[in-house]
Amino acid sequence: MTAAGSSAIASRFSSGNVLVLLTRGKARTMGRRITEIRPSTAFATVDLDGPGKQTGFVMIPHSPDDDAWGATRVPIAVVSNGNGPTVILEGGNHGDEYEGPIVIAELIRDLDPGEIEGRLILMPSNNVHAAMAGRRTSPVDGLNFNRTFPGDPRGTITRQISAFIVDHLFPRADAFLDLHSGGSSLTMIPSAIVEPTEDTELAARNMAAARAFDAPLTVIVANLGDTRTATAAACQAGLITVGTEMAGGGTVTPTALALCRRGVRNVLAHLGVMAPEQAVPPRGDGRIMELPGSDAYVFATIDGVFEPFHELGREISAGEPAGRIHLPWDPARPPETLAYRADGIVYGRRQPGRVKPGNCCLVVAAPYRETRD
Ligand code: CA
Repeated sequence: MTAAGSSAIASRFSSGNVLVLLTRGKARTMGRRITEIRPSTAFATVDLDGPGKQTGFVMIPHSPDDDAWGATRVPIAVVSNGNGPTVILEGGNHGDEYEGPIVIAELIRDLDPGEIEGRLILMPSNNVHAAMAGRRTSPVDGLNFNRTFPGDPRGTITRQISAFIVDHLFPRADAFLDLHSGGSSLTMIPSAIVEPTEDTELAARNMAAARAFDAPLTVIVANLGDTRTATAAACQAGLITVGTEMAGGGTVTPTALALCRRGVRNVLAHLGVMAPEQAVPPRGDGRIMELPGSDAYVFATIDGVFEPFHELGREISAGEPAGRIHLPWDPARPPETLAYRADGIVYGRRQPGRVKPGNCCLVVAAPYRETRD
């Protein structure tokens, strides 16, 4: 399994550094989709198919005003041992979400190849310019990395990073973990996320892997059907796909970080890359929910300061007042009340108090109906 896709790669050794030349061709996979590899100038300083533990960078040639022949360095580590599945762990898809990147970087430092069977491709800061800036979107090209898949190897830097993942990493992999948090604008109930797919077998494998994470909530999030996300692209490539939303709010909480550490090892044990002893016995308190389409979101209608009426986790009903927007600079005007549009629980809440029309103030998760057609 681990050798899958290697036919598309020619590698050579140069003064102690491994330089992997990525050539045009088709990556042939076992049970995964065949992908056309698009011509690219990107290269890696690690041998993606090599044994043991290697840490380096995906190098995206980048020629801004102050650096004629420079490169954007996207950190990557490959840990490989024996035969087993290949799992990609992504953090820093958004640069202001921190639990996943911390956990992946810890694995890079602490993991001994002997502790796994298979291969881990560990990427703690994929949207690297955004991660270094502590921002959701890239300061280099202004793009939201998670709306650029399947990327473009001739596009701006953010599109080139997503293209590298789709063309050179997805064809090598069996599974993809995409570790998100709420980011600076949202605080959420820590949860494992299931990306919906029409492939019913893959959907069942995705659900099983997300349940193995063992978060207090497992939530099916369709992003309103957007196919430009990393998890949608991973499902398209046939990979078992698990996402997360840790607490967020632009900070790190001990609870969410502990949950993320534990959940990642649980999923890796579930996938057979780590020994079963690495998994923590399930707590059994997890609940499966889903975002009920556009009705999940309560959007701001006016410019002002949002006052939520409920804490996260509170059971609420469609039509119930959700909060109100105040105009403290225009005190004669009464606040504007917003209402929930679905039954469920308060799953996420906007972190900054200040809102503008269209801002997402609240997110509702609804009970999951498995019989939904
Ligand atoms: Ca995110």
